[in-house]
Amino acid sequence: MSDMKSETRIPLMDLKAQYLGQKDAIDAAIHEVLDSAYYIEGPKVAEFERNFARYCEVTEAVGLDSGTAALQLGFLALDLKPGDELIMPANTFIATAAAAAVCGIRCVFVDSDDRTWQMDVEKVKAAITSRTKGVVAVHLYGQPVAVGELRDLCATNGLYFIEDAAQAHGALFKGQRIGSFGHFAAFSCYPAKNLGAFGDGGVLTTNDARLAERVRRLRNHGRLTKYEHSEVGFNYRMDALQGAVLNIKLSALERWNEGRRRLAMRYRDRLASLPLRLPEPVPDTVPVFHLFTVNLPQRDALAAWLTQNNIETGVHYPVPLHLQPAFSDLGYRKGDFPVAERIARETLSLPIFAEMTDQQFNAVCVAVETFFQNEELSAPASRVAAV
Ligand SMILES: *Cc1c(COP(=O)(O)O)cnc(C)c1O
Repeated sequence: MSDMKSETRIPLMDLKAQYLGQKDAIDAAIHEVLDSAYYIEGPKVAEFERNFARYCEVTEAVGLDSGTAALQLGFLALDLKPGDELIMPANTFIATAAAAAVCGIRCVFVDSDDRTWQMDVEKVKAAITSRTKGVVAVHLYGQPVAVGELRDLCATNGLYFIEDAAQAHGALFKGQRIGSFGHFAAFSCYPAKNLGAFGDGGVLTTNDARLAERVRRLRNHGRLTKYEHSEVGFNYRMDALQGAVLNIKLSALERWNEGRRRLAMRYRDRLASLPLRLPEPVPDTVPVFHLFTVNLPQRDALAAWLTQNNIETGVHYPVPLHLQPAFSDLGYRKGDFPVAERIARETLSLPIFAEMTDQQFNAVCVAVETFFQNEELSAPASRVAAV
């Protein structure tokens, strides 16, 4: 088998290759910040906020130090009270729910749709109570949710519609940017996200000028003037270096997303005859494939095989939120959300990034094909540890 192994490890995402593609521009921007000695917020962050707002087709973008901060400050700015409920998917990264929980909000989880793997709209309907204040739509894996249906459902029931767009910079629904539909949207600029900083970063987008103003104050200790504070806030500001880097990277985002989409289409064609499940895209959406995820019962065996072949994979996410110890007080049990639980058992993320070479792409496909051709490797699902 050694002839099929790639010489060097194929990463899930190659941040070094991404940097080298823009090295001169990024190095110059970083040096500009160093020379300016202006390290927190300032002109670079303001410029990024203007550029990102324009890109997302919204009036306001607020730079922050993480996507989690964007969610938390957005929730606080809605003035939700302890005990108010927000409906959100069980199948997401913990930050979606943690940011609400630290505000005293009760997280109400719903199962995934078996075809799209996104939050099931019918189950959202069924979860609405008199305490429900909003729905948090997570555009998981860079696949937009059924924005139209969910937004209409929220409008009909007088609920906030909130977007967790941490994995979906640049995605579209009916030709309009994800991040422009909700009362607010939260983006993460964690390095491996589609638009990643050189450290932690995040942005909140909204068309509500008052909400943006409140979030600007909350990110900086509720500050009105230097030592006058209107309310208790936080230190969630964006660094100037991150703003400078993100400005440069934003100019390449469309190209990178196009590269990811092209690879995803090639994966879909190439893997079509294999016994793998792929998520069905929601109609009228253009995804940005933050992750390329497949489902199969022998997930752990395929992951181990790919590791042996020097190919990095990921599991997003192995434990759905209703089964996380952090949320045990909410009283959910195993079996409550069977689709989300199946996805957690079966999901595997394959390498996808704009700089991926044909050789790397082929090596991944050959390794996956070999896994299924070799019954020793792929058939005995019963030998796979039951989760
Ligand atoms: C990454 C992520 C977040 C949190 O963003 P950070 O910048 O890491 O704080 C929130 N929600 C989802 C779905 C994410 O993938």
